[in-house]
Amino acid sequence: MAGFPTTARVVIIGGGAVGTSCLFHLARAGWRDCVLLEKNELTAGSTWHAAGNVPTFSTSWSLMNMQRYSTELYRGLGAAVDYPMNYHVTGSIRLAHSAERMQEFARAVGMGRYQGMALDLIGPEEIRGKYPFLETHDLRGALHDPADGDIDPAQLTQALAKGARDMGATILRFTPATGVSRKGGEWIVHTDKGDIRAEIVVNAAGYYAQRVGEWFRPHGGRRVPMMVMSHQYLLSEQIPELAAWTAEVGHKLPLLRDVDVSYYLRQEKAGFNLGPYENPCRAHWASPDDPMPDDFSFQLFPDDLDRLHVQIEDAMARVPMLARAGISKVINGPIPYAPDGNPLIGPMPGVPNAFEACVFTFGIAQAGGAGKVLAEWVTEGATEWDMWSCDPRRFTGFTDDAYCVARGMEVYGHEYAMHFPRAHWPAGRDRRLSPLHGRLKAAGAVFGAYNGWERADWFARPGDDTSFAAAQTWNRAGPWEGRIAEECAAVRDGCGVIAISGFTRLAVEGEGARAFVDGLSASRLPRPGRVGLAYFPDARGRILTEMSVIPRSDHEIWLITASVAQWHDGEILSRQAPAGIAVHDRSERYECLLVTGPTSREVLAPLTDCDLSLPWLSVQEGRVAGAEVTLMRVSFAGEMGWEVHCRPEDAPAVWDALTARGARPFGMWALDSLRIEKAYRAWKGDLSTDYSLIEGGLERFIDWSKDFPGKAALMAERDRGPRKRFVTLRVDAGAADAPYMSTIWHGGKVAGETTSGGWGYRVGASLALGMLRADLCAPGTEVEVEIYGERRRATVLPDGPAWDPANARIRA
Ligand SMILES: Cc1cc2nc3c(=O)[nH]c(=O)nc-3n(C[C@H](O)[C@H](O)[C@H](O)COP(=O)(O)OP(=O)(O)OC[C@H]3O[C@@H](n4cnc5c(N)ncnc54)[C@H](O)[C@@H]3O)c2cc1C
Repeated sequence: MAGFPTTARVVIIGGGAVGTSCLFHLARAGWRDCVLLEKNELTAGSTWHAAGNVPTFSTSWSLMNMQRYSTELYRGLGAAVDYPMNYHVTGSIRLAHSAERMQEFARAVGMGRYQGMALDLIGPEEIRGKYPFLETHDLRGALHDPADGDIDPAQLTQALAKGARDMGATILRFTPATGVSRKGGEWIVHTDKGDIRAEIVVNAAGYYAQRVGEWFRPHGGRRVPMMVMSHQYLLSEQIPELAAWTAEVGHKLPLLRDVDVSYYLRQEKAGFNLGPYENPCRAHWASPDDPMPDDFSFQLFPDDLDRLHVQIEDAMARVPMLARAGISKVINGPIPYAPDGNPLIGPMPGVPNAFEACVFTFGIAQAGGAGKVLAEWVTEGATEWDMWSCDPRRFTGFTDDAYCVARGMEVYGHEYAMHFPRAHWPAGRDRRLSPLHGRLKAAGAVFGAYNGWERADWFARPGDDTSFAAAQTWNRAGPWEGRIAEECAAVRDGCGVIAISGFTRLAVEGEGARAFVDGLSASRLPRPGRVGLAYFPDARGRILTEMSVIPRSDHEIWLITASVAQWHDGEILSRQAPAGIAVHDRSERYECLLVTGPTSREVLAPLTDCDLSLPWLSVQEGRVAGAEVTLMRVSFAGEMGWEVHCRPEDAPAVWDALTARGARPFGMWALDSLRIEKAYRAWKGDLSTDYSLIEGGLERFIDWSKDFPGKAALMAERDRGPRKRFVTLRVDAGAADAPYMSTIWHGGKVAGETTSGGWGYRVGASLALGMLRADLCAPGTEVEVEIYGERRRATVLPDGPAWDPANARIRA
């Protein structure tokens, strides 16, 4: 075919809002030799029928960043690319019916203001001022977002496409990709018009992403974790009263969301667009008797209004004018969901030079930000903002289709629900059970899922309320609080035991394994017989990950890392491993029991032939309760303690022996409190690519005498001094401790953010870990932490842990 490009640097599969934004941003980054393939006309997937709402609201820092960026991009896009666009920045009002909802909004307001947005909380009077047709008698208040609005999704896509084309990128419409193969280290993307040789491929195929993803499985890929929901909105007839009001005031009503009832209501010309997220809801193409059609371009599902009656009736009562108009049109279209409702943006797990930008539930609002993030991944290998919440590697092998459908339905049916820190959603549970599960349950465990593994969060006593309803609070108090306090006290005064099932264990094996791992880490690796923390920076010196390193020899290195880091950290090693070095994932071969507390030596001694006098950070092989174990003298709880690593099938005998000798079971929530008191960082909470190793307070883990990624950047930062530093704050908190990304204020100015927070039961205070402007880090400095809208006094603690700063208890 004449003019058909047979080579490209990047081929993007899918021409919706997201794919075109990826192309636009790649071209803008100077990567113009890129081709986008669209099997039908641009927008033929979910994009053409989207309602086009563009919120900034999110309680996720990274999603808020993406959405904020989108609004900023969209404001200037039409003019920048010379393409007319209907983008109405109407502002929005999100209604609150409860105090908890107002707290959630207050948190979003804090995050939003930190990002430079003018989000605000307003009361019923102000609500009526902005929205005169609204019943407000039963409302607590609302969140006002002046940057919210709606955009024409087709115009947005065409504008991005025009911008990309004008910069030299190529778009091939009516050109389906039909498969991929690999030749000489490059991709061959097959289409019905010919092949394109490409360095990099991006899957931006929307609700077809799983199908496209299957082509990559022979190249190391996995089944894309997603499912498809149907989502409907109703367009009302035009309402003369609304037309008259609009003509009089000269603008549209703000976009309304009644999140507690679960719908959005937007003015569309002189009528309304009502979009419920209903429950029960409907999945499509989720079973063999309902297969996904080969082509669904520009098609819709049949209307199904029966499911929406709760929201329709409520909306008519809330805005009575709506009840006076008939329905003129119903749109019922497919919308893809990942198991947590966030999109997949980033490296395709297991596959070289392939990326994903797909499974968007709010792909119009997020397209702008997603294009920026994807282009950064492709062109720089790293993103400006830490994007773990959207990283495809966050879902590991347990996310089969049944899991995806169960979780997708749950997320859709609770699209606007509050996500309380102590509430665990019930769908998709019990995916990975340790042989200890029955024992934990019998001991009263209330479980949480960690990378699919069920771990005890806390141990309830008979009569404790373990219901989902009891966990609907942002506050510290709850049925768990007394139990967490008891568990922490047991670890402080005696001996506790916790099953940390599903720890990620990687083994790097082959000639030169030690040198290979050493070259990736900024830290000095321990010698055999010892365990040490190692930090892995990216080229900018930012914190890619932390792993515990256990060298067995120069040719065999074990690494242990967070459960959820399994694929992420595995790929840091495997993608860079030279010939002759293999990276094995042995996560399923071991169970880990942490035995910790000042009497843990007495508890363990009669059960083991190991030498319990060996110092902190020692590693030895031996037996505990007859089972072969690797015993490591470390404790994330910050007391004397040992991690007992054994075969899963031996774990019950070890558990029985330890608990028979008085080790008290404790859970993840107690462990979280204990580790905050020690300022031990949590993976992707306190440790993220938002911060450099120096900002993260990890300089003592840097071995400046060797080469490692990001060294030059870190040396420059060391010389000029970092902008921010890691601190522990003692917070004069009220009912709630500081959640992730609470703003820290000083002198009325934003001075930093918390990265985790909680009550420290040993120190008897609320603590927060966070990043603070470097000039404010002197111990004793007073700052304020904004917790759900309340600014609480906080004091910078001396550098080091709040509990046992000299580490005397761990070394005892
Ligand atoms: C009723 C409804 C209302 C919505 N309202 C909103 C809203 O108000 N705000 C919001 O942010 N989001 C909304 N959404 C969600 C939004 O529509 C999607 O998140 C967004 O359109 C996803 O864009 P995308 O580019 O990722 O996918 P798509 O638009 O689905 O694009 C994927 C493209 O890939 C193409 N493709 C697939 N396979 C191939 C292949 N083999 N070769 C070449 N091309 C291929 C398809 O033809 C398609 O054009 C709504 C969804 C629905 C159903």
